[in-house]
Amino acid sequence: MYDLIILGAGPAGLTAGIYAARGGLNAVIVESKAVGGQAALTAEIENYPGFASVSGYELVSLMQAQCEALGVSFVFDAPVALALEGDVKRVDTAYSGTLEARAVILATGALPRTLGIERESELLGGGVSYCATCDGAFFRGKPVAVVGGGNTAVEDALYLEKFASEVYLIHRRDALRADAILADRVKNSGVHIVWDSVVTALDGDKKLQSVTLKNVKSGDTSSLAVNGLFVAVGQKPATEGLTGVELDGGYIVTDSEMRTSLPGVFAAGDVRKKTLRQVVTAAADGAVAAESAIKFLNGAA
Ligand code: NAP
Repeated sequence: MYDLIILGAGPAGLTAGIYAARGGLNAVIVESKAVGGQAALTAEIENYPGFASVSGYELVSLMQAQCEALGVSFVFDAPVALALEGDVKRVDTAYSGTLEARAVILATGALPRTLGIERESELLGGGVSYCATCDGAFFRGKPVAVVGGGNTAVEDALYLEKFASEVYLIHRRDALRADAILADRVKNSGVHIVWDSVVTALDGDKKLQSVTLKNVKSGDTSSLAVNGLFVAVGQKPATEGLTGVELDGGYIVTDSEMRTSLPGVFAAGDVRKKTLRQVVTAAADGAVAAESAIKFLNGAA
């Protein structure tokens, strides 16, 4: 029996682990993939205070080491069923049995959204990717495109310039959503921005050879020869199958103390309904959630 189970080992979960351990809790972090969540897949983070530039992997590795040094346990397994409503919360895992605790922090993060066009899943690994830092090097000397206009898409496009012969950034509007500093950087880079356009078809036999584009203003269609298509059109919360906790658009609703609608259940990071999803805000959520869990376990909240 733990005091606290933290689901998710991204910056929110890892920070919650640090605060929980320092607060004297016996905490376990459950992670079904690799430590670090989406931050670990970010090549370069330039807006985490104290680090002018740091690789996402390095930053989360430091957080993990800090957790381990404080005695936080890690279980690398998939949670398959949650029972969060009673005084004792239970998390069934695929291979590690059932974990129990009196409080839970949900820090499961978010997953990339898909375009939802034909052949997208068939060509996954054959040219379609949702992770530029994971797959970019496979496209050395080849033309690639990124879809999206947010921070992720712009960062991916700039990152892919290291490998690809040409990089296209395909955006459905005529203005980027990305932060001004990134938008300026990409406009002054070698990336070709294709404005007002959406991808309507993926072409090629077993491997991607080109994409069909539609200009949303003129209605014209064209073909763009690319071997890689990096989809960066936002994220969806990792809350599939989660019941009993109030959600809004799939995101977990909390108060400012990270309390969900269920007593003893807290949420932190990208999975939470909020406006700014950054490593620093995920970490801050994790700290607040852990402090709230400590108060809850002490009978003070
Ligand atoms: P995002 O900010 O939600 O941007 C998604 C982009 O994809 C938007 O430009 C959107 O177009 C476009 N889009 C959405 N659906 C589409 C579709 N079906 N077809 C074509 N385009 C589509 O997502 P994100 O870039 O993944 O960022 C997620 C969060 O993480 C944000 O809060 C972001 O600030 C944060 N983040 C921050 C950093 C950083 O600070 N360095 C880095 C990465 C991510 P519209 O603009 O027209 O809506």
